[in-house]
Amino acid sequence: MTAKATGGTVETDVLVIGSGGAGLYAAIEAARNGQQVMVLTKGVLGKNGATLTSGADFNLDGHSIRRLFGFTADPRDAPEILFEDTINVGEWINNQKLVETLVDDAPQRVKELVDWGTRMEGLAMPARPGCRYPHGVKTTGLEISNVLAKKVKQLGQQVTVRDNIMATDLLTSNGRVVGAVGLDFAHGDFVAIKAKAVVIATGGGQEIFPIHTYPKEMSGDGQAMGYRAGAELLDMESMQFITMTFLHPYPPTSARFLILFMSNGGWLLNKHGQRFMSKWDPQNMEDARRSLVAVAVNKEILEGRGWKGDRGGYVALSMRHLPEDIIDYLSGDWYIRRCLFSKRDFDHLKKDSIEAFIAPHSFQGGLRVDENGSTTLAGLFAAGEVTGGLHGADRLAGNAVSQCFVQGSRAGRSAARFAAKNRSAEVNKSQLESLREKVFAPLERKDGVSPLEMRRRLQKLASEKLINVRSGESLEKAVGEIEEMKKSLPRLAARSKNPRYNREWVAALEAENSLVVAEMIARSALMRTESRGNHYRYDFPATDNQNWLKNIILRRVDTKMRLFTAAPPGPLHFARVTPPER
Ligand SMILES: Cc1cc2nc3c(=O)[nH]c(=O)nc-3n(C[C@H](O)[C@H](O)[C@H](O)COP(=O)(O)OP(=O)(O)OC[C@H]3O[C@@H](n4cnc5c(N)ncnc54)[C@H](O)[C@@H]3O)c2cc1C
Repeated sequence: MTAKATGGTVETDVLVIGSGGAGLYAAIEAARNGQQVMVLTKGVLGKNGATLTSGADFNLDGHSIRRLFGFTADPRDAPEILFEDTINVGEWINNQKLVETLVDDAPQRVKELVDWGTRMEGLAMPARPGCRYPHGVKTTGLEISNVLAKKVKQLGQQVTVRDNIMATDLLTSNGRVVGAVGLDFAHGDFVAIKAKAVVIATGGGQEIFPIHTYPKEMSGDGQAMGYRAGAELLDMESMQFITMTFLHPYPPTSARFLILFMSNGGWLLNKHGQRFMSKWDPQNMEDARRSLVAVAVNKEILEGRGWKGDRGGYVALSMRHLPEDIIDYLSGDWYIRRCLFSKRDFDHLKKDSIEAFIAPHSFQGGLRVDENGSTTLAGLFAAGEVTGGLHGADRLAGNAVSQCFVQGSRAGRSAARFAAKNRSAEVNKSQLESLREKVFAPLERKDGVSPLEMRRRLQKLASEKLINVRSGESLEKAVGEIEEMKKSLPRLAARSKNPRYNREWVAALEAENSLVVAEMIARSALMRTESRGNHYRYDFPATDNQNWLKNIILRRVDTKMRLFTAAPPGPLHFARVTPPER
Protein backbone atom coordinates (compact mmCIF):
# COMPACT_ATOMS: atom_id res chain seq x y z
CA MET A 1 0.00 0.00 0.00
CA THR A 2 1.33 3.51 -0.76
CA ALA A 3 0.38 6.83 0.83
CA LYS A 4 -2.86 8.00 -0.78
CA ALA A 5 -4.74 11.28 -1.08
CA THR A 6 -8.27 11.60 0.31
CA GLY A 7 -9.96 14.93 -0.45
CA GLY A 8 -6.87 17.12 0.10
CA THR A 9 -5.70 14.98 3.01
CA VAL A 10 -2.96 12.44 2.34
CA GLU A 11 -3.19 9.18 4.27
CA THR A 12 -0.47 6.89 5.60
CA ASP A 13 -0.03 4.27 8.32
CA VAL A 14 2.85 5.85 10.26
CA LEU A 15 3.77 9.51 9.98
CA VAL A 16 7.27 10.49 11.15
CA ILE A 17 7.99 14.18 11.72
CA GLY A 18 11.72 14.93 11.41
CA SER A 19 14.50 13.31 9.39
CA GLY A 20 17.49 13.38 11.77
CA GLY A 21 18.93 10.18 13.25
CA ALA A 22 15.86 9.48 15.39
CA GLY A 23 13.28 10.17 12.68
CA LEU A 24 14.98 8.15 9.96
CA TYR A 25 15.57 5.23 12.29
CA ALA A 26 11.89 5.31 13.29
CA ALA A 27 10.85 5.36 9.62
CA ILE A 28 13.09 2.41 8.75
CA GLU A 29 11.83 0.38 11.71
CA ALA A 30 8.15 1.14 11.02
CA ALA A 31 8.64 0.11 7.40
CA ARG A 32 10.47 -3.07 8.43
CA ASN A 33 7.41 -3.86 10.51
CA GLY A 34 5.23 -3.79 7.43
CA GLN A 35 3.74 -0.29 7.60
CA GLN A 36 3.48 2.42 4.99
CA VAL A 37 5.50 5.42 6.24
CA MET A 38 5.62 9.10 5.42
CA VAL A 39 8.41 11.37 6.70
CA LEU A 40 7.95 15.14 6.88
CA THR A 41 11.09 17.20 7.20
CA LYS A 42 11.79 20.89 7.49
CA GLY A 43 14.95 20.40 5.45
CA VAL A 44 16.05 17.95 2.78
CA LEU A 45 16.53 14.23 3.40
CA GLY A 46 20.01 13.49 4.77
CA LYS A 47 21.01 17.13 4.82
CA ASN A 48 19.48 18.56 7.96
CA GLY A 49 19.14 18.25 11.71
CA ALA A 50 21.71 18.15 14.47
CA THR A 51 22.60 14.57 13.58
CA LEU A 52 24.26 15.79 10.39
CA THR A 53 26.45 18.28 12.27
CA SER A 54 27.28 16.07 15.23
CA GLY A 55 30.76 14.92 16.28
CA ALA A 56 29.64 12.10 16.15
CA ASP A 57 30.94 9.91 18.91
CA PHE A 58 28.34 7.63 20.33
CA ASN A 59 28.41 5.54 23.40
CA LEU A 60 28.31 1.85 23.96
CA ASP A 61 30.04 -0.18 26.60
CA GLY A 62 33.64 -1.37 26.24
CA HIS A 63 32.75 -5.08 26.13
CA SER A 64 30.53 -4.50 23.09
CA ILE A 65 33.10 -2.20 21.49
CA ARG A 66 35.74 -4.96 21.65
CA ARG A 67 33.31 -7.66 20.53
CA LEU A 68 31.85 -5.72 17.60
CA PHE A 69 34.81 -3.74 16.31
CA GLY A 70 37.92 -5.22 17.88
CA PHE A 71 38.94 -1.73 19.11
CA THR A 72 41.08 -1.88 22.25
CA ALA A 73 38.49 -0.55 24.69
CA ASP A 74 39.36 -0.69 28.38
CA PRO A 75 38.64 -4.25 29.63
CA ARG A 76 37.09 -2.83 32.82
CA ASP A 77 34.39 -0.99 30.88
CA ALA A 78 31.09 -2.90 31.00
CA PRO A 79 27.39 -2.11 30.40
CA GLU A 80 26.91 -1.42 34.11
CA ILE A 81 29.67 1.23 34.03
CA LEU A 82 28.04 3.11 31.14
CA PHE A 83 24.71 2.85 32.96
CA GLU A 84 26.16 4.28 36.18
CA ASP A 85 28.17 7.02 34.45
CA THR A 86 24.97 8.17 32.73
CA ILE A 87 23.06 8.31 36.02
CA ASN A 88 25.89 10.02 37.90
CA VAL A 89 26.29 12.74 35.30
CA GLY A 90 22.49 13.09 35.10
CA GLU A 91 22.58 13.69 38.88
CA TRP A 92 20.03 10.99 39.60
CA ILE A 93 16.97 12.40 37.91
CA ASN A 94 17.27 10.23 34.78
CA ASN A 95 14.54 7.69 34.07
CA GLN A 96 16.57 4.53 34.70
CA LYS A 97 14.39 2.44 32.42
CA LEU A 98 15.30 4.72 29.52
CA VAL A 99 18.98 4.50 30.45
CA GLU A 100 18.73 0.74 30.63
CA THR A 101 17.32 0.50 27.10
CA LEU A 102 20.04 2.82 25.83
CA VAL A 103 22.80 0.66 27.27
CA ASP A 104 21.14 -2.62 26.25
CA ASP A 105 20.17 -1.68 22.67
CA ALA A 106 23.06 0.56 21.58
CA PRO A 107 25.40 -2.30 20.52
CA GLN A 108 22.71 -3.85 18.32
CA ARG A 109 21.90 -0.53 16.66
CA VAL A 110 25.54 0.32 16.04
CA LYS A 111 26.18 -3.14 14.59
CA GLU A 112 23.24 -2.57 12.26
CA LEU A 113 24.60 0.81 11.16
CA VAL A 114 27.93 -0.79 10.37
CA ASP A 115 26.16 -3.54 8.38
CA TRP A 116 24.43 -0.79 6.40
CA GLY A 117 27.81 0.72 5.50
CA THR A 118 28.77 3.16 8.29
CA ARG A 119 32.54 3.50 8.66
CA MET A 120 33.79 3.71 12.25
CA GLU A 121 36.99 5.61 12.90
CA GLY A 122 37.88 4.14 16.30
CA LEU A 123 37.44 4.95 19.96
CA ALA A 124 36.58 8.53 20.95
CA MET A 125 39.60 9.40 23.05
CA PRO A 126 40.25 10.58 25.70
CA ALA A 127 37.35 9.58 27.98
CA ARG A 128 34.79 12.41 27.96
CA PRO A 129 34.08 14.21 31.25
CA GLY A 130 32.07 11.97 33.59
CA CYS A 131 33.03 8.76 31.75
CA ARG A 132 35.28 6.46 33.74
CA TYR A 133 36.53 4.94 30.46
CA PRO A 134 36.20 6.08 26.84
CA HIS A 135 32.78 4.67 25.92
CA GLY A 136 32.52 6.39 22.57
CA VAL A 137 32.98 5.00 19.09
CA LYS A 138 33.46 7.73 16.54
CA THR A 139 32.25 8.34 13.04
CA THR A 140 30.83 11.52 11.52
CA GLY A 141 27.35 12.99 11.47
CA LEU A 142 27.61 13.21 7.70
CA GLU A 143 28.44 9.51 7.44
CA ILE A 144 25.46 8.51 9.61
CA SER A 145 23.08 10.83 7.76
CA ASN A 146 24.19 9.47 4.37
CA VAL A 147 23.83 5.85 5.47
CA LEU A 148 20.37 6.38 6.95
CA ALA A 149 19.17 8.38 3.94
CA LYS A 150 20.43 5.64 1.60
CA LYS A 151 18.67 2.98 3.66
CA VAL A 152 15.41 4.94 3.52
CA LYS A 153 15.71 5.27 -0.27
CA GLN A 154 16.29 1.51 -0.56
CA LEU A 155 12.89 0.97 1.06
CA GLY A 156 11.39 2.44 -2.11
CA GLN A 157 7.69 3.23 -2.09
CA GLN A 158 7.24 1.99 1.42
CA VAL A 159 8.69 5.26 2.76
CA THR A 160 7.71 8.60 1.23
CA VAL A 161 9.86 11.55 2.28
CA ARG A 162 8.47 15.06 1.89
CA ASP A 163 11.18 17.72 2.08
CA ASN A 164 10.67 21.39 2.98
CA ILE A 165 7.58 20.79 5.08
CA MET A 166 7.17 22.39 8.48
CA ALA A 167 4.65 20.40 10.52
CA THR A 168 2.71 22.92 12.57
CA ASP A 169 0.15 20.96 14.59
CA LEU A 170 -1.07 17.47 15.36
CA LEU A 171 -4.57 16.35 14.44
CA THR A 172 -6.46 14.77 17.32
CA SER A 173 -9.70 12.86 17.67
CA ASN A 174 -11.15 11.67 20.99
CA GLY A 175 -7.81 11.94 22.79
CA ARG A 176 -5.91 10.11 20.05
CA VAL A 177 -3.40 11.64 17.65
CA VAL A 178 -4.56 10.94 14.10
CA GLY A 179 -2.19 12.92 11.90
CA ALA A 180 -0.58 16.30 11.45
CA VAL A 181 -0.78 19.45 9.34
CA GLY A 182 1.86 21.85 8.14
CA LEU A 183 3.22 24.22 5.55
CA ASP A 184 4.99 23.12 2.38
CA PHE A 185 7.14 26.24 2.32
CA ALA A 186 8.72 25.43 -1.03
CA HIS A 187 5.33 25.84 -2.71
CA GLY A 188 3.32 27.80 -0.14
CA ASP A 189 0.79 24.95 0.25
CA PHE A 190 -1.07 23.65 3.27
CA VAL A 191 -0.52 19.92 3.88
CA ALA A 192 -2.68 17.57 5.95
CA ILE A 193 -1.71 13.98 6.64
CA LYS A 194 -4.00 11.46 8.25
CA ALA A 195 -2.09 8.64 10.00
CA LYS A 196 -2.81 5.70 12.30
CA ALA A 197 0.26 6.59 14.38
CA VAL A 198 2.61 9.58 14.53
CA VAL A 199 6.26 9.71 15.65
CA ILE A 200 7.69 13.10 16.60
CA ALA A 201 11.48 13.36 16.11
CA THR A 202 12.00 17.07 15.63
CA GLY A 203 15.07 17.55 17.84
CA GLY A 204 15.70 20.52 20.18
CA GLY A 205 14.62 24.16 20.45
CA GLN A 206 17.98 25.93 20.54
CA GLU A 207 16.86 28.72 18.22
CA ILE A 208 15.24 30.50 21.15
CA PHE A 209 18.84 31.56 21.98
CA PRO A 210 20.83 33.98 19.78
CA ILE A 211 24.06 31.93 19.72
CA HIS A 212 24.04 28.15 19.96
CA THR A 213 25.72 25.11 18.50
CA TYR A 214 22.73 23.76 16.54
CA PRO A 215 21.20 24.22 13.09
CA LYS A 216 18.75 27.13 12.75
CA GLU A 217 15.71 24.93 12.15
CA MET A 218 15.57 23.90 15.82
CA SER A 219 12.69 26.06 17.03
CA GLY A 220 11.07 23.62 19.45
CA ASP A 221 8.23 22.70 17.07
CA GLY A 222 7.84 19.11 18.28
CA GLN A 223 7.75 20.02 21.95
CA ALA A 224 5.15 22.73 21.25
CA MET A 225 3.01 20.58 18.93
CA GLY A 226 2.95 17.79 21.51
CA TYR A 227 2.07 20.25 24.26
CA ARG A 228 -0.80 21.81 22.31
CA ALA A 229 -2.20 18.35 21.61
CA GLY A 230 -2.17 17.55 25.36
CA ALA A 231 0.99 15.42 25.77
CA GLU A 232 3.12 15.69 28.91
CA LEU A 233 6.68 17.01 28.90
CA LEU A 234 9.28 16.77 31.61
CA ASP A 235 12.37 18.51 32.97
CA MET A 236 12.29 21.40 30.51
CA GLU A 237 14.57 23.42 32.83
CA SER A 238 17.32 20.93 32.00
CA MET A 239 19.36 21.79 28.94
CA GLN A 240 23.04 21.51 28.29
CA PHE A 241 25.37 24.49 28.05
CA ILE A 242 28.88 24.12 26.79
CA THR A 243 32.11 26.12 26.85
CA MET A 244 32.72 27.65 23.45
CA THR A 245 34.89 30.22 21.77
CA PHE A 246 35.11 32.78 19.04
CA LEU A 247 38.75 33.15 18.17
CA HIS A 248 40.37 36.42 19.12
CA PRO A 249 41.37 38.57 17.27
CA TYR A 250 39.81 36.98 14.20
CA PRO A 251 36.18 37.73 13.32
CA PRO A 252 33.78 34.97 14.36
CA THR A 253 32.35 32.57 11.83
CA SER A 254 30.64 30.32 14.31
CA ALA A 255 31.00 29.26 17.92
CA ARG A 256 33.45 26.38 18.37
CA PHE A 257 33.81 23.70 20.99
CA LEU A 258 36.63 23.93 23.53
CA ILE A 259 36.10 20.58 25.19
CA LEU A 260 39.20 18.94 23.77
CA PHE A 261 41.44 21.85 24.65
CA MET A 262 40.25 21.61 28.24
CA SER A 263 40.70 17.87 28.52
CA ASN A 264 44.21 18.19 27.09
CA GLY A 265 45.61 20.59 29.66
CA GLY A 266 44.07 23.97 28.76
CA TRP A 267 43.51 26.34 31.67
CA LEU A 268 40.46 28.51 32.19
CA LEU A 269 41.49 31.82 33.76
CA ASN A 270 39.58 34.84 35.01
CA LYS A 271 40.84 38.40 34.69
CA HIS A 272 42.78 38.05 37.95
CA GLY A 273 44.70 35.14 36.43
CA GLN A 274 42.97 32.62 38.73
CA ARG A 275 42.18 29.07 37.60
CA PHE A 276 38.67 29.37 38.97
CA MET A 277 37.77 25.69 38.42
CA SER A 278 39.77 24.98 41.59
CA LYS A 279 36.76 26.31 43.56
CA TRP A 280 34.40 23.88 41.86
CA ASP A 281 36.30 20.66 41.20
CA PRO A 282 39.94 20.80 42.38
CA GLN A 283 40.55 17.24 41.24
CA ASN A 284 39.32 17.42 37.65
CA MET A 285 39.65 21.19 37.18
CA GLU A 286 38.87 22.13 33.53
CA ASP A 287 38.12 18.47 32.75
CA ALA A 288 35.21 18.46 35.21
CA ARG A 289 31.69 17.67 34.07
CA ARG A 290 30.59 19.97 31.26
CA SER A 291 27.64 21.36 33.23
CA LEU A 292 29.89 22.33 36.12
CA VAL A 293 32.44 24.04 33.88
CA ALA A 294 29.68 25.93 32.08
CA VAL A 295 28.16 27.16 35.36
CA ALA A 296 31.61 28.17 36.65
CA VAL A 297 32.47 30.06 33.43
CA ASN A 298 29.18 31.93 33.41
CA LYS A 299 29.40 32.85 37.09
CA GLU A 300 32.87 34.34 36.55
CA ILE A 301 31.50 36.40 33.66
CA LEU A 302 28.29 37.48 35.43
CA GLU A 303 30.13 38.42 38.62
CA GLY A 304 32.60 40.66 36.79
CA ARG A 305 35.67 38.46 36.94
CA GLY A 306 35.77 38.00 33.17
CA TRP A 307 36.29 40.50 30.37
CA LYS A 308 33.70 42.43 28.41
CA GLY A 309 33.91 41.97 24.65
CA ASP A 310 31.96 43.14 21.61
CA ARG A 311 30.07 39.86 21.67
CA GLY A 312 29.44 39.67 25.44
CA GLY A 313 31.47 38.57 28.45
CA TYR A 314 34.20 35.96 28.38
CA VAL A 315 36.98 34.34 30.38
CA ALA A 316 40.27 33.10 28.94
CA LEU A 317 41.39 29.68 27.84
CA SER A 318 45.17 29.49 27.90
CA MET A 319 47.61 26.80 26.77
CA ARG A 320 50.77 28.89 27.03
CA HIS A 321 51.98 26.83 30.00
CA LEU A 322 52.16 23.76 27.71
CA PRO A 323 55.10 22.86 25.47
CA GLU A 324 54.53 24.03 21.90
CA ASP A 325 54.69 20.49 20.53
CA ILE A 326 51.58 19.56 22.56
CA ILE A 327 49.72 22.38 20.86
CA ASP A 328 51.06 21.20 17.48
CA TYR A 329 49.98 17.64 18.32
CA LEU A 330 46.46 18.81 19.18
CA SER A 331 46.18 20.61 15.87
CA GLY A 332 46.14 17.15 14.25
CA ASP A 333 43.24 15.88 16.35
CA TRP A 334 40.30 14.82 14.17
CA TYR A 335 37.70 16.44 16.42
CA ILE A 336 39.50 19.76 16.65
CA ARG A 337 39.97 19.80 12.89
CA ARG A 338 36.29 19.15 12.52
CA CYS A 339 35.54 22.18 14.70
CA LEU A 340 37.30 24.21 11.99
CA PHE A 341 40.30 25.33 14.01
CA SER A 342 43.08 26.30 11.59
CA LYS A 343 46.90 26.42 11.78
CA ARG A 344 46.58 30.17 12.33
CA ASP A 345 44.47 29.47 15.43
CA PHE A 346 47.12 27.16 16.84
CA ASP A 347 49.92 29.66 16.21
CA HIS A 348 47.78 32.17 18.08
CA LEU A 349 47.31 29.72 20.98
CA LYS A 350 51.07 29.44 21.48
CA LYS A 351 51.32 33.16 22.18
CA ASP A 352 47.99 34.17 23.62
CA SER A 353 44.80 32.96 25.25
CA ILE A 354 41.42 32.71 23.53
CA GLU A 355 37.95 33.86 24.57
CA ALA A 356 35.80 31.29 26.31
CA PHE A 357 32.11 31.70 26.99
CA ILE A 358 29.14 29.40 27.15
CA ALA A 359 26.47 28.58 24.60
CA PRO A 360 23.36 26.38 24.69
CA HIS A 361 23.97 22.89 23.34
CA SER A 362 21.55 19.96 23.58
CA PHE A 363 18.04 19.80 25.03
CA GLN A 364 17.61 17.26 27.83
CA GLY A 365 13.99 17.85 28.75
CA GLY A 366 11.16 17.12 26.35
CA LEU A 367 8.18 14.90 25.62
CA ARG A 368 7.61 12.29 28.30
CA VAL A 369 8.09 8.82 26.83
CA ASP A 370 8.34 5.31 28.16
CA GLU A 371 11.02 2.86 27.07
CA ASN A 372 9.03 1.99 23.95
CA GLY A 373 8.68 5.57 22.80
CA SER A 374 5.02 5.96 23.76
CA THR A 375 4.08 9.47 24.88
CA THR A 376 1.17 10.13 27.22
CA LEU A 377 -1.18 10.47 24.22
CA ALA A 378 -2.59 7.48 22.32
CA GLY A 379 -1.20 7.22 18.81
CA LEU A 380 1.71 9.59 19.52
CA PHE A 381 5.29 8.35 19.84
CA ALA A 382 8.52 10.29 20.15
CA ALA A 383 12.26 9.72 19.87
CA GLY A 384 15.59 11.53 20.10
CA GLU A 385 16.29 14.98 21.42
CA VAL A 386 12.63 16.02 21.44
CA THR A 387 12.10 13.63 24.37
CA GLY A 388 12.98 14.06 28.05
CA GLY A 389 13.99 11.78 30.88
CA LEU A 390 17.00 9.90 29.56
CA HIS A 391 19.74 12.38 30.40
CA GLY A 392 18.45 13.86 33.66
CA ALA A 393 20.18 17.06 34.75
CA ASP A 394 23.19 16.68 32.44
CA ARG A 395 23.94 14.54 29.40
CA LEU A 396 26.90 12.21 29.26
CA ALA A 397 28.84 13.15 26.12
CA GLY A 398 28.17 10.60 23.37
CA ASN A 399 24.76 9.49 24.65
CA ALA A 400 22.65 11.68 22.35
CA VAL A 401 23.59 10.00 19.09
CA SER A 402 23.08 6.53 20.60
CA GLN A 403 19.75 7.80 21.92
CA CYS A 404 18.56 8.64 18.38
CA PHE A 405 19.09 5.11 17.13
CA VAL A 406 17.83 3.29 20.19
CA GLN A 407 14.74 5.43 20.73
CA GLY A 408 14.12 5.89 17.01
CA SER A 409 14.06 2.15 16.50
CA ARG A 410 11.81 1.50 19.50
CA ALA A 411 9.38 4.32 18.67
CA GLY A 412 9.18 3.18 15.03
CA ARG A 413 8.38 -0.37 16.11
CA SER A 414 5.76 0.75 18.64
CA ALA A 415 4.13 3.06 16.10
CA ALA A 416 4.01 0.22 13.57
CA ARG A 417 2.34 -2.09 16.10
CA PHE A 418 -0.17 0.59 17.03
CA ALA A 419 -0.92 1.23 13.35
CA ALA A 420 -1.38 -2.48 12.71
CA LYS A 421 -3.90 -2.78 15.55
CA ASN A 422 -5.90 0.43 15.03
CA ARG A 423 -7.96 1.62 12.09
CA SER A 424 -7.44 5.22 11.04
CA ALA A 425 -9.78 7.61 12.83
CA GLU A 426 -11.88 10.34 11.25
CA VAL A 427 -10.25 13.77 11.02
CA ASN A 428 -12.27 16.54 12.61
CA LYS A 429 -13.14 18.94 9.77
CA SER A 430 -13.45 22.07 11.89
CA GLN A 431 -10.09 21.37 13.56
CA LEU A 432 -8.54 20.93 10.13
CA GLU A 433 -10.03 24.19 8.88
CA SER A 434 -8.91 26.22 11.90
CA LEU A 435 -5.38 24.83 11.63
CA ARG A 436 -5.33 25.73 7.94
CA GLU A 437 -6.40 29.29 8.80
CA LYS A 438 -3.69 29.46 11.47
CA VAL A 439 -1.03 28.50 8.91
CA PHE A 440 -2.10 31.12 6.36
CA ALA A 441 -2.85 33.94 8.82
CA PRO A 442 0.68 35.50 8.94
CA LEU A 443 0.83 35.54 5.12
CA GLU A 444 -2.65 36.98 4.69
CA ARG A 445 -2.44 39.61 7.45
CA LYS A 446 -1.89 43.02 5.88
CA ASP A 447 0.42 44.44 8.53
CA GLY A 448 1.40 43.75 12.10
CA VAL A 449 4.34 42.59 14.19
CA SER A 450 7.50 41.40 12.41
CA PRO A 451 8.20 37.70 13.17
CA LEU A 452 11.95 38.30 12.90
CA GLU A 453 11.72 41.14 15.41
CA MET A 454 9.73 38.85 17.73
CA ARG A 455 12.47 36.21 17.44
CA ARG A 456 15.21 38.75 18.26
CA ARG A 457 13.23 39.88 21.31
CA LEU A 458 12.83 36.32 22.54
CA GLN A 459 16.50 35.54 21.92
CA LYS A 460 17.56 38.56 23.97
CA LEU A 461 15.29 37.47 26.81
CA ALA A 462 16.58 33.89 26.67
CA SER A 463 20.25 34.90 26.61
CA GLU A 464 19.73 37.08 29.68
CA LYS A 465 17.28 35.05 31.74
CA LEU A 466 17.14 31.42 30.60
CA ILE A 467 20.85 30.68 30.42
CA ASN A 468 22.32 28.19 32.94
CA VAL A 469 22.86 30.64 35.85
CA ARG A 470 19.39 31.76 36.91
CA SER A 471 17.50 33.41 39.76
CA GLY A 472 13.89 33.37 40.90
CA GLU A 473 13.61 37.09 40.27
CA SER A 474 14.86 36.97 36.67
CA LEU A 475 12.81 33.85 35.91
CA GLU A 476 9.66 35.61 37.19
CA LYS A 477 10.48 38.49 34.86
CA ALA A 478 11.04 36.06 31.98
CA VAL A 479 7.60 34.50 32.52
CA GLY A 480 6.02 37.99 32.60
CA GLU A 481 7.77 39.07 29.39
CA ILE A 482 6.83 35.84 27.62
CA GLU A 483 3.18 36.35 28.61
CA GLU A 484 3.41 39.86 27.18
CA MET A 485 4.98 38.63 23.94
CA LYS A 486 2.28 35.98 23.52
CA LYS A 487 -0.23 38.81 23.08
CA SER A 488 1.54 39.77 19.83
CA LEU A 489 1.18 36.30 18.28
CA PRO A 490 -2.22 37.01 16.67
CA ARG A 491 -0.66 40.08 15.00
CA LEU A 492 2.39 38.45 13.42
CA ALA A 493 2.60 39.33 9.74
CA ALA A 494 5.06 38.46 7.00
CA ARG A 495 5.91 41.62 5.04
CA SER A 496 6.69 39.71 1.87
CA LYS A 497 3.60 38.01 0.44
CA ASN A 498 5.55 35.62 -1.77
CA PRO A 499 4.26 32.16 -0.79
CA ARG A 500 7.47 30.31 -1.77
CA TYR A 501 10.39 30.00 0.65
CA ASN A 502 9.07 32.93 2.66
CA ARG A 503 11.42 33.16 5.65
CA GLU A 504 9.19 35.51 7.61
CA TRP A 505 6.14 33.30 7.15
CA VAL A 506 8.01 30.29 8.53
CA ALA A 507 9.44 32.46 11.35
CA ALA A 508 5.90 33.51 12.26
CA LEU A 509 4.83 29.86 12.56
CA GLU A 510 7.95 29.05 14.56
CA ALA A 511 7.45 31.99 16.91
CA GLU A 512 4.52 30.44 18.74
CA ASN A 513 6.48 27.23 19.27
CA SER A 514 9.60 28.98 20.49
CA LEU A 515 7.57 31.07 22.93
CA VAL A 516 5.91 27.94 24.33
CA VAL A 517 9.30 26.27 24.77
CA ALA A 518 10.76 29.38 26.43
CA GLU A 519 7.78 29.45 28.78
CA MET A 520 8.30 25.76 29.61
CA ILE A 521 11.96 26.41 30.45
CA ALA A 522 11.20 29.51 32.53
CA ARG A 523 8.35 27.99 34.51
CA SER A 524 10.15 24.70 35.16
CA ALA A 525 13.36 26.50 36.17
CA LEU A 526 11.33 28.67 38.53
CA MET A 527 9.77 25.61 40.11
CA ARG A 528 13.07 23.76 40.66
CA THR A 529 14.26 25.60 43.78
CA GLU A 530 17.69 23.99 43.87
CA SER A 531 20.79 23.73 41.66
CA ARG A 532 21.40 20.53 39.73
CA GLY A 533 23.44 19.84 36.59
CA ASN A 534 23.09 22.65 34.10
CA HIS A 535 20.43 24.41 36.16
CA TYR A 536 22.07 26.75 38.69
CA ARG A 537 19.93 29.00 40.90
CA TYR A 538 21.65 31.97 42.61
CA ASP A 539 18.92 31.90 45.25
CA PHE A 540 19.18 28.11 45.76
CA PRO A 541 22.84 27.26 45.05
CA ALA A 542 22.85 23.81 46.69
CA THR A 543 21.67 20.49 45.29
CA ASP A 544 18.75 19.41 47.44
CA ASN A 545 18.41 15.63 47.30
CA GLN A 546 15.99 15.71 50.20
CA ASN A 547 13.31 17.49 48.21
CA TRP A 548 14.34 17.48 44.58
CA LEU A 549 15.08 13.95 43.43
CA LYS A 550 12.06 14.54 41.23
CA ASN A 551 11.06 15.32 37.70
CA ILE A 552 9.03 18.38 36.81
CA ILE A 553 6.16 17.44 34.53
CA LEU A 554 4.05 19.87 32.59
CA ARG A 555 0.97 19.74 30.44
CA ARG A 556 -1.67 22.03 29.00
CA VAL A 557 -4.86 22.25 31.01
CA ASP A 558 -7.61 24.56 29.73
CA THR A 559 -5.12 26.61 27.65
CA LYS A 560 -2.84 27.14 30.68
CA MET A 561 0.55 25.53 31.37
CA ARG A 562 0.30 23.41 34.53
CA LEU A 563 3.35 21.99 36.30
CA PHE A 564 3.67 19.29 38.91
CA THR A 565 6.43 17.13 40.32
CA ALA A 566 6.77 13.37 40.21
CA ALA A 567 9.05 11.31 42.42
CA PRO A 568 9.76 7.57 42.12
CA PRO A 569 8.08 5.28 41.21
CA GLY A 570 7.01 7.86 38.60
CA PRO A 571 9.17 8.54 35.59
CA LEU A 572 12.33 8.47 37.71
CA HIS A 573 12.29 4.71 38.27
CA PHE A 574 15.20 3.97 40.60
CA ALA A 575 14.99 0.56 39.02
CA ARG A 576 18.62 -0.53 39.23
CA VAL A 577 20.57 1.85 41.44
CA THR A 578 19.51 4.15 44.24
CA PRO A 579 21.17 7.49 44.98
CA PRO A 580 23.97 7.19 47.56
CA GLU A 581 22.35 9.84 49.79
CA ARG A 582 19.06 8.00 50.13
C1 LIG B 1 27.70 20.42 16.62
C2 LIG B 1 27.11 19.26 17.37
C3 LIG B 1 27.91 18.21 17.78
C4 LIG B 1 27.35 17.14 18.47
N1 LIG B 1 28.15 16.08 18.78
C5 LIG B 1 27.61 15.01 19.40
C6 LIG B 1 28.40 13.87 19.67
O1 LIG B 1 29.57 13.80 19.30
N2 LIG B 1 27.82 12.83 20.34
C7 LIG B 1 26.52 12.86 20.74
O2 LIG B 1 26.05 11.89 21.33
N3 LIG B 1 25.73 13.93 20.47
C8 LIG B 1 26.23 14.99 19.80
N4 LIG B 1 25.43 16.05 19.51
C9 LIG B 1 23.99 15.98 19.83
C10 LIG B 1 23.26 15.08 18.82
O3 LIG B 1 23.81 15.30 17.53
C11 LIG B 1 21.77 15.36 18.78
O4 LIG B 1 21.22 15.30 20.06
C12 LIG B 1 21.04 14.34 17.91
O5 LIG B 1 21.66 14.20 16.66
C13 LIG B 1 19.59 14.74 17.73
O6 LIG B 1 19.00 13.88 16.77
P1 LIG B 1 17.44 13.95 16.48
O7 LIG B 1 17.16 13.01 15.38
O8 LIG B 1 16.68 13.82 17.74
O9 LIG B 1 17.24 15.44 15.97
P2 LIG B 1 17.89 16.17 14.71
O10 LIG B 1 19.02 15.42 14.13
O11 LIG B 1 18.15 17.56 15.13
O12 LIG B 1 16.73 16.13 13.64
C14 LIG B 1 15.54 16.86 13.82
C15 LIG B 1 14.78 16.79 12.52
O13 LIG B 1 13.49 17.35 12.70
C16 LIG B 1 13.21 18.24 11.61
N5 LIG B 1 12.19 19.19 12.07
C17 LIG B 1 12.27 20.07 13.10
N6 LIG B 1 11.09 20.71 13.22
C18 LIG B 1 10.28 20.22 12.25
C19 LIG B 1 8.95 20.51 11.84
N7 LIG B 1 8.20 21.42 12.46
N8 LIG B 1 8.43 19.82 10.80
C20 LIG B 1 9.16 18.90 10.12
N9 LIG B 1 10.43 18.60 10.47
C21 LIG B 1 10.97 19.26 11.52
C22 LIG B 1 14.55 18.82 11.27
O14 LIG B 1 14.55 19.38 9.99
C23 LIG B 1 15.41 17.56 11.37
O15 LIG B 1 15.26 16.79 10.22
C24 LIG B 1 25.97 17.14 18.80
C25 LIG B 1 25.16 18.20 18.40
C26 LIG B 1 25.71 19.24 17.67
C27 LIG B 1 24.82 20.36 17.19
